[in-house]
Amino acid sequence: MYELSIETSFASAHQLRGYKGKCENIHGHNWRVQLSVTAAKLNEIDIAIDFHDLKRMANEVVEQLDHKMLNEIFPFTEINPSSENIAKWIFESMGKKLPANSVKMSSVTVWESDTASATYYED
Ligand SMILES: [Zn+2]
Repeated sequence: MYELSIETSFASAHQLRGYKGKCENIHGHNWRVQLSVTAAKLNEIDIAIDFHDLKRMANEVVEQLDHKMLNEIFPFTEINPSSENIAKWIFESMGKKLPANSVKMSSVTVWESDTASATYYED
């Protein structure tokens, strides 16, 4: 298998409902996102997917969150905009954009600071 990864980022505000502590208050992060896809084989020019296409799709996804209050965007109106849930949302949103016959989502890691991240992947 091949695994390809790209990184992107966005800036947004959120608050964690039900959290007892500072994160219950509105605050912002510069979120960093690493996204990986896997491929079983390469195409006729020996690549799995063009990095440029992968970055474009990832940016289309994270643009929906950039400079927004995450708690006002579905599904974060209903579930907490935690790093964990953001990673899963990006994973699922990317899954709908990828060409189904060539690559598959592998994992999404979301850093809310330089030293704290959450990763979502499926078995
Ligand atoms: Zn936070």
